[in-house]
Amino acid sequence: YAAKEGRNTARAFDPAMDLALAERRQLEADLRRAIARDELVLHFQPQVRPGGSAKPAGERSAGERPAGERPEGPSAEGRIVGFEALVRWRHPTRGLVPPGAFIPLAEQTGLVVALGEWVLRAACREAAGWARPLTVAVNLSPRQFQQVDLPERVLAILSETGLSPDRLEIEVTETVIINDMARAMTVLRRLKSFGIRIAMDDFGTGYSSLATLQAFPFDAIKIDRSFVSQIERRPAAAVIVRAVLGLGRSLGLRVVAEGVETEDQMRFLIAEGCGEMQGYLFGKPQPAERIAGMMAGEGSAVVEQSERDRRRA
Ligand code: C2E
Ligand code: MG
Ligand code: MG
Ligand code: MG
Repeated sequence: YAAKEGRNTARAFDPAMDLALAERRQLEADLRRAIARDELVLHFQPQVRPGGSAKPAGERSAGERPAGERPEGPSAEGRIVGFEALVRWRHPTRGLVPPGAFIPLAEQTGLVVALGEWVLRAACREAAGWARPLTVAVNLSPRQFQQVDLPERVLAILSETGLSPDRLEIEVTETVIINDMARAMTVLRRLKSFGIRIAMDDFGTGYSSLATLQAFPFDAIKIDRSFVSQIERRPAAAVIVRAVLGLGRSLGLRVVAEGVETEDQMRFLIAEGCGEMQGYLFGKPQPAERIAGMMAGEGSAVVEQSERDRRRA
């Protein structure tokens, strides 16, 4: 986990660097306060059905095509179908801290349970206020799955915030499944029975088998960014991406490609039949106000934003 997130991680916080005990204690105390004092914030990253693989024009009513979506073929545009909520820590002295720098510690100490509940509530409340009934995807950690009453807690948050269950997608990693298969099955089935959607996150980086994928009640598979980013450079990565797309088709699951950064990656994915994408090409994670404004008004704001991001980079 630490190695995977290393690129986004502020050095002083990198758990792989084996923080001194005192420093860890300090961080833990800080994080505990952060949850209580509302120092956590959510950013939202768009999940897009790209122009080229969206429903054929004939199947859409005129109003359904968002402004700015070009019907003639692939471009870094598309229809936003949802947003993934990603937590950040607005630290009083260290600035905006990315999740890779504190989630692992939160997981080890159990703080992730309180943190995860904060995230879920904040994400559902935000989504309930959106101008369009899009999906919100929320990451749940292995520790959260050790709570037997997790489904009831989630249900309580949905009713408290007024979000319809079918607008929530829970993202779990393979670790959640592997830890305790029987419990994961019970919890996921129950969440699913409420109408909540389930996605397998970072697929391909863990150890779950194809049998697992088939046995559990998943709606979607997210292909990990490490494969998507290598599509053009490593033939093996392209082979894996193609195989996961085939697997998704056979099992009747949506497949979401993570970390799409280039037009070439997008074109490859569209050609291979990938229906949903997420990545800097379409938009970086952004504060809630930005995406709320985007939905209320102009349809192509995400694209304009990603253009700006790219020019800045
Ligand atoms: P994830 O769930 O796989 O989320 C995707 C990560 O990839 C996000 O990093 C996102 O900013 C980044 N990303 C998206 N598109 C691109 C791209 O085109 N290029 C590159 N280079 N990166 C891209 P972020 O926000 O730093 O989150 C990292 C991880 O932290 C997440 O990975 C997730 O595992 C975890 N995380 C974030 N929020 C939460 C949370 O609320 N609860 C839990 N348990 N984990 C969380
Ligand atoms: Mg995720
Ligand atoms: Mg992911
Ligand atoms: Mg990932």
